[in-house]
Amino acid sequence: MAYNAVETITRKRDGHRLDDDQIRWLIDAYVRGDILPEQMSALAMAIYFQGLDDGELATWTSAMIASGDRQDFAGLSRVAVDKHSTGGVGDKITLPLAPLVAACGAAVPQLSGRGLGHTGGTLDKMESIRGWRATLTDDEMRVQLDRLGAVICAAGPGLVPADKLLYALRDVTGTVEAIPLICSSIMSKKIAEGAAGLVLDVKVGSGAFMKTPERARELASRMVGLGQGAGVRTVALLTNMDTPLGLTVGNALEVAESVEVLAGGGPADVVELTLTLAREMVALARLDVDPADVLASGKAMDTWRAMVTAQGGDPDAPLPVSRHTAVICATASGYVTRLDALSVGVASWRLGAGRTRQSDKVQAGAGVTLHAKPGDRVSAGQPIMTLHTDTPDRFADAQAALTDAVTIGPRAPAPTPLVLDRIG
Ligand code: URA
Repeated sequence: MAYNAVETITRKRDGHRLDDDQIRWLIDAYVRGDILPEQMSALAMAIYFQGLDDGELATWTSAMIASGDRQDFAGLSRVAVDKHSTGGVGDKITLPLAPLVAACGAAVPQLSGRGLGHTGGTLDKMESIRGWRATLTDDEMRVQLDRLGAVICAAGPGLVPADKLLYALRDVTGTVEAIPLICSSIMSKKIAEGAAGLVLDVKVGSGAFMKTPERARELASRMVGLGQGAGVRTVALLTNMDTPLGLTVGNALEVAESVEVLAGGGPADVVELTLTLAREMVALARLDVDPADVLASGKAMDTWRAMVTAQGGDPDAPLPVSRHTAVICATASGYVTRLDALSVGVASWRLGAGRTRQSDKVQAGAGVTLHAKPGDRVSAGQPIMTLHTDTPDRFADAQAALTDAVTIGPRAPAPTPLVLDRIG
């Protein structure tokens, strides 16, 4: 049957289902350039309002996967398990997690991206390590995965080209937030990556894409459905992103904190989330080991050092440090009851740790160090954050983002759990 773009748009606009063949035709025609960007924008907006049902979503996702190459890790000596985070402030978990799960015996292919906006990108963090190289060929990736069990590298251009086009379009047409489009964007890439198991860390709160548990739960359960439907053992955790993870936000600062975790220290929330996600991944790989024992043994640190070295990095090189710092002090005495993730993320971005356009360069040393977190007691005048940048004219904008970031009250707040729910 012959389809056309305008009929497809109006059908979805008016709340009707798209046929499987129509969806496959549409994605293929879009990638070939036969559907105009303005037509795809209109359809994305229609989907934003009308949604896609589970059948449409599964077909949409598999049509996106079919636009590019699929990895196949079935021949590896280890079971491949993957993790995806929907993005948060101070979320450096991939860095300690990948070597930890590899040291437990699985293969962890982390095809990562660079950051845009207030959440940082894993590649930007890793690139603060002197000499480290993000781009690997498929063969290099496979050899490293087999030998060391973990790779963090840039996704190649062949991985779901339909998503590259569609994501760029959604970014400038107010349609990023459509849940079916987020699900198909993330899951097409994850399914195409070819791991046997996948753990999704769906962030909820001020610093996350999903501001409410209801929306996060919907996103998580639809992604889990897509993964399981495609034969990938998939679970999702909903985790709190009202406050930054750990005590550092910014590229080199987060690498240093990750190395502390691998050395057996680090902030309690970063350690807890790393171990929780590692346990899920190890279970999906059907391995019978406790990641806490492996972390304590030092094997995860050995794997980290080997991974960094294999990609040209020097794990012993000092990390870049910004030339200028400014301190923010508590304005009252009492307990920190709130430390807003979004404000800290925006401040770090404005200090130079993040980018506004894909082509922007990031400052490796820029970011924010936190000296107090919710539940800590502080005295008026005590330093609660340090801002880092090479360009001190950025301090004023960063400080403006932090104006209402911290609330101090007379009583300690009730502790909030880090893991809010598990789906799968
Ligand atoms: N991350 C993605 O890869 N895609 C989205 O649509 C949103 C977040």
